[in-house]
Amino acid sequence: MKEKDCIFCKIAAGEIPSATLYEDGDFRVILDLGPASKGHALIIPKEHYRNLYDIDDEKAAKILPLAKKMINKMTEVLGCDGYNLVQNNEECAGQTVFHFHMHMIPRYKGDNVGLGWHMGKLTDADKNEILEKMK
Ligand code: AMP
Ligand code: ZN
Repeated sequence: MKEKDCIFCKIAAGEIPSATLYEDGDFRVILDLGPASKGHALIIPKEHYRNLYDIDDEKAAKILPLAKKMINKMTEVLGCDGYNLVQNNEECAGQTVFHFHMHMIPRYKGDNVGLGWHMGKLTDADKNEILEKMK
């Protein structure tokens, strides 16, 4: 299913031009227009899913193998030193385009890409509460 007015539906369908690195029946992989580092790319399914909460299991299962193939090739091409895969779900988590996408962000020794968080401390109360509720 496509969603009217969704920019990534239009990019994935080729209705809006993009810097496409790879395409198959299920996905288009493009360079991000606002890259965190040189070579930052996005895996975009051709079907519309809002995010990981919504994506079909069969489609989701194809994403990690594709990411692996892409970062192996991109590492050769870019000469980068590592990679982050980032995938944001909902606004509070930084999602700005509400069509599933996986970021592949090349990392270079000494770069200033600001991905990370301040580490907290797992409290016994949180640990016990979560373990209990997950049963
Ligand atoms: P997120 O914040 O996880 O929803 O990421 C959205 C990403 O899409 C950002 O990194 C944007 O730079 C990127 N982006 C938005 N519009 C376009 C576009 N037309 N072509 C390529 N990348 C885009
Ligand atoms: Zn869409």
